[in-house]
Amino acid sequence: MNDQVRIQLENVSYSYEDAPAPALSRASAVIREGEFVAVLGHNGSGKSTLAKLLNALYLPSEGKVVVCGYDTAREEFTWEIRRRAGMIFQNPDNQIVATVVKEDVAFGLENLGVPTDEMIPRVESALAAVHMSGYADSAPHMLSGGQKQRVAVAGILAMEPSVLIADEATAMLDPSGRQEVLSTVQALNRRKGITVVWITHFMEEAALADRILVVSDGVITADGTPREIFEDVEGMRNLHLDVPRMTSLAADLRKEGMPLRPGILTVEDLVKEVERLCPLKSGI
Ligand code: ADP
Ligand code: MG
Repeated sequence: MNDQVRIQLENVSYSYEDAPAPALSRASAVIREGEFVAVLGHNGSGKSTLAKLLNALYLPSEGKVVVCGYDTAREEFTWEIRRRAGMIFQNPDNQIVATVVKEDVAFGLENLGVPTDEMIPRVESALAAVHMSGYADSAPHMLSGGQKQRVAVAGILAMEPSVLIADEATAMLDPSGRQEVLSTVQALNRRKGITVVWITHFMEEAALADRILVVSDGVITADGTPREIFEDVEGMRNLHLDVPRMTSLAADLRKEGMPLRPGILTVEDLVKEVERLCPLKSGI
């Protein structure tokens, strides 16, 4: 089960009308069931274009996108793909369509024509999964940004998706809202096995992913684990991308002559390495 392919990109290119260069060029990648894949890239590198190709909002100009076994170019699969690969966007306010939270979560199910007696438990369990049950009857505009994003996630969950695509879903939130939304989605990934494509410009978020795809000028330039991707500090800087703060600090310390091992992403990683190099002697 675990190696089921959820998303397959085969030499995918996409060009906007009248644009001088393609927004995405010959992109290839495979994302499997249960993976949490972060996508990094500078502004205008093609991340949102990639996201929209993944749920058939855009169709490739060249190449092929297959989501949960369905070729996005086949129009008869469009709704099945959108149901299985739900997407949340940056602005929490743009995603709310109803005046009551539970109705907002039910919106997609209503469109699918799901009968009311089936809809109610699905909405309730989706709200419970994002820890928003207590707000079922609230007005969405009263909620914080993080809560609104969790309601948006619940709307997708109610559709029983296989894949969740988040396009900078935390970019407009304060640090606590960011943490709320990220940990909710991480829990869904771990407990329900939902495959996650997490587009972000926060390196600390990407560091938590199983894998990172780096996009630069419409090209996927790297695909690896966070440790592999962030170890190339210079390469990331050349792409105008950061690395997690502790990775950057470790790189600076190495330049100063400290023989730290590669693969430092977190404070804990760095502390462990420093302790290995400078063991505390007893009796001091
Ligand atoms: P990102 O999400 O990484 O910032 P996008 O996918 O939005 O990048 O954009 C990739 C490229 O496509 C950029 O050069 C951008 O200017 C261009 N682009 C994005 N949307 C459109 C559009 N609707 N029409 C024309 N060009 C676009
Ligand atoms: Mg974007």
